[in-house]
Amino acid sequence: MMVLPPFRGPRFLRETPGLTDAKGFIPVLPTYRHPDFESIYAVGVITQLKAMEQTPIPTGAPKVGLMSEEMALAVAHNIALELGVISGCQNKPTLQAICFADFGDTGALFLADPLLPDETGHRHRALTYNGIWVSWMKTGFEKYFLTKLRLGWTIPWFERWAFRAIGLPLVEPIIPSPQLIQVKG
Ligand SMILES: Cc1cc2nc3c(=O)[nH]c(=O)nc-3n(C[C@H](O)[C@H](O)[C@H](O)COP(=O)(O)OP(=O)(O)OC[C@H]3O[C@@H](n4cnc5c(N)ncnc54)[C@H](O)[C@@H]3O)c2cc1C
Repeated sequence: MMVLPPFRGPRFLRETPGLTDAKGFIPVLPTYRHPDFESIYAVGVITQLKAMEQTPIPTGAPKVGLMSEEMALAVAHNIALELGVISGCQNKPTLQAICFADFGDTGALFLADPLLPDETGHRHRALTYNGIWVSWMKTGFEKYFLTKLRLGWTIPWFERWAFRAIGLPLVEPIIPSPQLIQVKG
């Protein structure tokens, strides 16, 4: 048997009137700005993501670290646009995901493009691989990730280039719509 506490946002967010849904997750527009508070953007696991299906145990939609990075990239871009530092159109995360799971004596890698399937239940790609090499890759990735962050690199050019090369652009432009925020200047 496995017991897990309910998956919900932290109390200080839940208790802020109008900020989150009942479970403490922050609703966002495609720009990842809060629909009601212009100065609030949200990224990561705390953002509201509709579950793909209703299950007997309400597990919700899976969320992985790469999605948080994609959201942060899009939000940084959208804030820079709002401040007039850059020009162009607003971005949204692609929500494509790669995950390395380490099981000790083996590992599993999945690629979900995008993580949430469309209304017909289809994704462009959904791949899984397993083997001890995944554990080795995860160990190598951890060392690379911590080193690059210590150096102040977020997503360096070669990483962006490698993601694009395998069809994962991480962010994509938003087709302008009246509901989206007005960009100043
Ligand atoms: C066991 C495990 C394995 C995983 N493996 C993978 C993987 O292989 N690949 C992958 O892509 N993803 C993986 N994930 C998911 C990934 O770790 C998360 O998606 C990612 O860390 C989410 O980032 P985040 O910044 O949104 O949230 P978090 O990393 O949870 O950051 C939230 C931060 O807010 C802080 N915080 C909370 N409350 C307060 C408060 N009141 N005041 C101040 N700070 C506060 C927390 O301390 C925390 O540091 C894994 C997750 C787990 C648990």
